Amino acid sequence: RRRELLADSAGPGRTADGAPVALLLNVGEGDPDEAGAHDSEGVGLLRTEFLFLDRAEPPTVAEQTAAYARLFRAFDGRTVTVRTLDAGSDKPLAFAGTGPEDNPALGRRGFRTARVHPELLTDQLAAIRAAADGSGARVRVMAPMVSTPAEAAEFVALAREAGITEAGVMIEVPGAALLADRLLPRVDFVSLGTNDLAQYTMAADRTLGTLPDLLDPWQPALLELVGTVGGAGERSGRAVGVCGEAAADPLLAVVLVGLGATSLSMAAPALPAVRHALAHHTKQECRHLAGLALAAATAAEAREAVRAAASPDVADL
Ligand code: PEP
Ligand code: MG
Repeated sequence: RRRELLADSAGPGRTADGAPVALLLNVGEGDPDEAGAHDSEGVGLLRTEFLFLDRAEPPTVAEQTAAYARLFRAFDGRTVTVRTLDAGSDKPLAFAGTGPEDNPALGRRGFRTARVHPELLTDQLAAIRAAADGSGARVRVMAPMVSTPAEAAEFVALAREAGITEAGVMIEVPGAALLADRLLPRVDFVSLGTNDLAQYTMAADRTLGTLPDLLDPWQPALLELVGTVGGAGERSGRAVGVCGEAAADPLLAVVLVGLGATSLSMAAPALPAVRHALAHHTKQECRHLAGLALAAATAAEAREAVRAAASPDVADL
């Protein structure tokens, strides 16, 4: 049944009334040619950590340039969103160390690593710029773990200095989401990292494995913050993506679009069902379902309210 439902699912993401929602891929390691072969509109999250893991020294600018260029070639004519190095916390790297910290998830991780090792970021931006030159991909960069409008502006300035024209940030920290109206005008786009945003909103360690109820992306508190950022996106005209695991749940994808998301990025196997779910709801229906989720008191109630009101074609995906 599922296969039948999805058989017609191909091409760009659209709501039932034709509003575009770019469907993008999360890419970590693996074969760039294989990633590029998928029916997506590009890459919404290139996790670049794979180039840096299991090494004593960071890769050189030349090594990085070659790796990025290969990926950009596979996405000729499409968007590729490169996330700069997200070191620290759940992604520790020897050469990006910041000294001992009792709470590394709250420490100098993500964009904050550049305070300690600025050359890691400037080298990476130089490599991305060099690889983008002459490639047919639309290359843009974003920084992880940005907490304030000032940090967002700082990253955009660094990207522009490197000659990269499109620069945004991930929204993974509640403080950044709450000030979305002040942050978004300083960047070209944002992308919500719902995995970390859930962790920091619910004060629940994402690496524990014992707190799945709190980390459930249907938690209304998390959805409130998504809605805050989505509203700021609509007011400022900035694109608001979602690249955390939340975007891969077809029913939740419809809610995210209702909250203002303009693109969704996910692992390749999730694309057809999400495309199908969007095609069965108008933008207005997405907004209505988002309202039901926001009004719920618990994640389970939010999911159930949306499932009951969603198109029957989608509710059992
Ligand atoms: C996230 O935090 O939601 C995200 C997409 O980034 P990562 O899972 O790599 O931290
Ligand atoms: Mg993250």
